[in-house]
Amino acid sequence: MDVARLTRLLEGWGEPAYRITQARQAQRAGAVSWSDVTAFPRVLRTRLDQELPLWSGEISARAESTDATVKWGLRGEDGTFWEAVLIAHARGRRTLCVSSQGGCALACRFCATGAMGPGRDLAASEIIDQALLAAVEADAQGSRLTNVVYMGMGEPLQNADAVLDAARWLTAADGLGLSARRVAISTVGWVPGISRLTRDPLPVRLAISLHAADDETRSELMPINVRYPIANLLAACRRYRDTTGRRVFIEYLLLDGVNDDPIDARRLAALLRDGDFHVNLIEYNPTSGPYRASPPERRERFAEALAAEGLRPSIRHSRGADIAAACGQLAGDG
Ligand code: SAH
Repeated sequence: MDVARLTRLLEGWGEPAYRITQARQAQRAGAVSWSDVTAFPRVLRTRLDQELPLWSGEISARAESTDATVKWGLRGEDGTFWEAVLIAHARGRRTLCVSSQGGCALACRFCATGAMGPGRDLAASEIIDQALLAAVEADAQGSRLTNVVYMGMGEPLQNADAVLDAARWLTAADGLGLSARRVAISTVGWVPGISRLTRDPLPVRLAISLHAADDETRSELMPINVRYPIANLLAACRRYRDTTGRRVFIEYLLLDGVNDDPIDARRLAALLRDGDFHVNLIEYNPTSGPYRASPPERRERFAEALAAEGLRPSIRHSRGADIAAACGQLAGDG
């Protein structure tokens, strides 16, 4: 729902502002078009039908994985394409992976979105609509949307205004009412954005895509590292921690023979010493890039080397890879 346009229309027609909340409630209840928004007078519904779609982003594709992960391809009126993925976990937990941009300018070499090139920033309402879509789907699965992670297409901290606006709504009592601890923003290490989060009162989680323990390897994998090298990035994380009191989550993608030696693990542990970090080891999902996932034995050895240094990593296993819905596979092929 394009809130900016809707607000102008409603004002022009002398309609009250609470219509927006009513429209969102109707979306949440599964309304497909304005004619389903029964809280509105019929005349208003008919008028809106001619002016703008109820949902921003028309569903152009929908795929369901054997592990119950669902991926939507969404297309805006300007042709911009983005994807949203709802991941099913045990015990009824459901995590939505949202997109914040219709592409990505940062060109990480292991990421399919990076290979697409830049796309425009999504509006807060385009992010919120991904969450509403997922909440309706989770209900249909007899479950509930519990977590939202900004790990879809794009770099969320390059679009921080919209990302934070949407996060505020996700956590608002009259929004989706999620706990802020269950909303995570994942970044390549966009330092100005981390400073921005440090000042923002919304207590969402911060996750850093680190993926290497030395600048040479990291710059090879992630060109952004040339601009914001590891030392600057981790200094920003420590300021975040000291100011907010919240720990920082470090994501580390294990790439065979690239960054998965026990020496890398010890370097990583040294970098993270004297901080409040939690390390998440990530299985690589194949893309067109030149990399391979670390085999399970190397993964184990890496995790053990970290443990020997006092870090207790968790391992994120791949979900939805059969429908190209896993981390790093979102590339708008729909
Ligand atoms: N731009 C943000 C959010 C999008 S990526 C960021 O980089 O953090 C979300 C996560 O998926 C990041 O940790 C990213 O590094 C990881 N990722 C990217 N490509 C991947 C791949 N091929 N396999 C597994 N994880 C990948």
